[in-house]
Amino acid sequence: MLVVMKAHATEEQVRAVCERIEHFGYRAHPIPGAQRTAIGITGNKGAVEAGTLEEMSGVQEVIVVSKPYKLVSRDVKEEDTEVLFTGSDGSFGGRTLGIIAGPCSVESREQAFAIAERIAKAGARFFRGGAYKPRTSPYAFQGLGEDALKIMAEIRDRFGLRIVTEAIDNETLDLVAEYADCVQIGARNMQNFSLLKKAGRLRKPVLLKRGMSATLEEFLMAAEYILSEGNYQVILCERGVRTFADHTRNTLDLSIVPAVQKLSHLPIIVDPSHGTGKRDKVLPLSRAAVAVGADGLIVEVHHEPDRALSDGMQSLFPDQFDELMSEIRQIAPVVHRNVQEPQGKPVVVKAGK
Ligand code: PEP
Ligand code: MN
Repeated sequence: MLVVMKAHATEEQVRAVCERIEHFGYRAHPIPGAQRTAIGITGNKGAVEAGTLEEMSGVQEVIVVSKPYKLVSRDVKEEDTEVLFTGSDGSFGGRTLGIIAGPCSVESREQAFAIAERIAKAGARFFRGGAYKPRTSPYAFQGLGEDALKIMAEIRDRFGLRIVTEAIDNETLDLVAEYADCVQIGARNMQNFSLLKKAGRLRKPVLLKRGMSATLEEFLMAAEYILSEGNYQVILCERGVRTFADHTRNTLDLSIVPAVQKLSHLPIIVDPSHGTGKRDKVLPLSRAAVAVGADGLIVEVHHEPDRALSDGMQSLFPDQFDELMSEIRQIAPVVHRNVQEPQGKPVVVKAGK
């Protein structure tokens, strides 16, 4: 159920409706939009008695949401959600693409700083780096844990980059959230429902990756778990799904980008690194992701990929990341988007303009 408020409904009227909903024992999610506020109702087993809500002042209508997902849906919020970061001009879901880059894993201070310097110079606003790694083998490098988080906190201070890093379980989520600006939930955890709910109680953005075999509906329902707990700052990420294809690590399903955008107001970005598993495929699929209308990219970059402790094969050299940024800067305007220049770089105004 969804209560649509009138365009000029007052804050008191919205609050009164929320109180009435909570009085019924349900949860109210007021979601302000450009035109009007909608209040999503969750926690109800069946239909909510609409009559008492419809009569309240400021209410325009009460509608039944037939889709299984509600809060992520455009029924609740028609316009795109833009996820913002205080003190940064980086964001996801607005006109400017959000670009995240960095190594698969933070391996040392020197490694992370060398890569951060290059990706900042290329214009990225977000640094990615794994501190806790979900590895297929228990013998593979598992990440430096809190030491890596501390290194990334230094990177934020030094380069002004915002930090995106994965929480792999409930036990470490709070610690990761203390350091991260955006908490990543990986493909393997897309249906770890207790982790999703806990991430929903955070008050910072969550990057939710699509599960390896998740349908569109399962993907949106996973996001719904986070929103249903009150965290509306969710960025979706397509990172490839398992298919019979063996020329790439995964099959990057770019068609999910417009499919998500049709149904949901949440931003969706693309991970061409895990999506292809091969360095030489990352640039072409990045171009395609921007062209298809993705709200950003998350790309693995390593200054010495041959020596990387994880995912070296799919990591770009910094020079290749420079090339990627330069190419997507040219493609983005075609789809009415733009890509940031390096921080602090003066804007060049062409003569005659
Ligand atoms: C990663 O980003 O390094 C990662 C493990 O991604 P995914 O969960 O998509 O496999
Ligand atoms: Mn990786």
